[in-house]
Amino acid sequence: MIHIYLDKCKGCNICVKNCPLDAIEVKNKKAYTKDNCVSCGICVRVCPFKAIEKDTLNTQNYLICKNCPVNCTIPEGKTGACTRYQSNGNEIIRNRKLVVEGVYKSNKEKLGFEPIITGVGSGTSYPCCRPAPAIVQENVDGVDVVTVVTEAPLSYSGVKVKIDTNMHIGDEGAKVKRDGKIVGMVTTEEYGSKMLTLGGANLLSNGNDGFIVAKTIVDLANSRRVTLKVESGSTLELQQGHPPIIDGKKEKLMRVGCGSATVGMFARQMSEVVDEAIILDYHVIGLLSEHFAGEEVGLTYSGVVPYGVKSTRGRYFGKHGHGWGGTEIMDPIDSVAEVDMKLARPGMKILVTETTGQKAALLEVQHDGSVKDIGLNEQILEVVNLISSTCEESSVSVIYTGGTGGSARAGVSTLPRKLTDAIHNDEVLMTVAGAPAFVLPGGGINFMVDVGKMVPESTTWVPTPATVAPVEYTMTRKKYEEIGGHKAQIMTKEDLYKKFKLGN
Ligand code: SF4
Ligand code: SF4
Repeated sequence: MIHIYLDKCKGCNICVKNCPLDAIEVKNKKAYTKDNCVSCGICVRVCPFKAIEKDTLNTQNYLICKNCPVNCTIPEGKTGACTRYQSNGNEIIRNRKLVVEGVYKSNKEKLGFEPIITGVGSGTSYPCCRPAPAIVQENVDGVDVVTVVTEAPLSYSGVKVKIDTNMHIGDEGAKVKRDGKIVGMVTTEEYGSKMLTLGGANLLSNGNDGFIVAKTIVDLANSRRVTLKVESGSTLELQQGHPPIIDGKKEKLMRVGCGSATVGMFARQMSEVVDEAIILDYHVIGLLSEHFAGEEVGLTYSGVVPYGVKSTRGRYFGKHGHGWGGTEIMDPIDSVAEVDMKLARPGMKILVTETTGQKAALLEVQHDGSVKDIGLNEQILEVVNLISSTCEESSVSVIYTGGTGGSARAGVSTLPRKLTDAIHNDEVLMTVAGAPAFVLPGGGINFMVDVGKMVPESTTWVPTPATVAPVEYTMTRKKYEEIGGHKAQIMTKEDLYKKFKLGN
């Protein structure tokens, strides 16, 4: 039971924000637990004023869940902190049916077999020396295939988040926060997308801040919307499969390439409607007439000097910002640093656009070498629209990353090293919530999986803190015996349906 010392409580709401079950509320600046509190202890650990204590007495009327080390005391009809297990009369039961269907189908041809079931709804084998909750065998085209499933707590987990945007969201290495707590960092920028790395073993075990880290990983892996703040950078609203919202603005298009690539792809069409083009891009700004692609379509250098620092022919580096193409340029006129009138001529037309073609302007060179915005015409709009139509829609993609090494292997095999080796040798197909996992080379079983292919709402977290992912290992029965599998626990699909109370 949880006891709150009202005289010490300041009503700061920190416990409310961290409770996984919405089981605590603040009224008149004092915290009170609700009837679904399971004594998971998170609020005890996060309260900065030591106003909450866990009372280990008075638990006789509750069932204690023993499926993870937290040991929630669950009131009748309620769930534990992880939301997976429920007190149901006299027993603690998994409250989600085993998901048999929902297996991503692309591996069958390559491997000759695919998972028989998913791990979603299977429950765990905690403590890990117990065999996995479901080890099922089926004959597939004359071959006995075994799938072993478990919902494994993975302390060594996180997400990599790809955000399709040109906008500068913050510097690489900048901390990413949720509700003021560090949950990860901006890592890299890869092919026009910003990458975040959130979670990981160190942040998950970072004292009492690990709860919000676990919650963030699971929210993103379950395709829920999450608001994050990059230190000295942007506010991001992110949801798997949806356009990112950056500083309140929804992103529309993923760029077609850098400014140089855009020149390379559309040099011919641009050269037919203008004398010069500047493609603004925070990474590489392209200048049509000077670029090799410009030469290829018959242009010679126009004398226009674009904003930026020259890198190579027709390629310039800009500066990050919130302007056109993710540069600091807010007014297209500023994209022209100067015009060399020994080469240029008055009346020359310059297209200024972005790699997504979302913003565009037409400038005209004046007698004194200045430029004037003269407005777009139909012909030029067609070219700009062509660039836009080549772009994909911006999206947020979440890759769940974890490791099932260590004790998580013991529920699968009595010879854990052999399981690792068999996975690396492609003798065991590893899937996560039904989706194919990419297993990283080297030691351990570190994997990455596209959450867009996983069974929806398939991950959860426990207040150790760790995330919980359903994992399936599929192989021939022969291989399962070779790697020291729990042979005595292999069941037929019929037995499985009975054990998990599924209709067939
Ligand atoms: S965290 Fe502590 S002080 Fe803050 S509202 Fe909760 S019980 Fe009160
Ligand atoms: S003990 Fe756990 S479930 Fe209960 S109020 Fe605190 S955080 Fe919520």
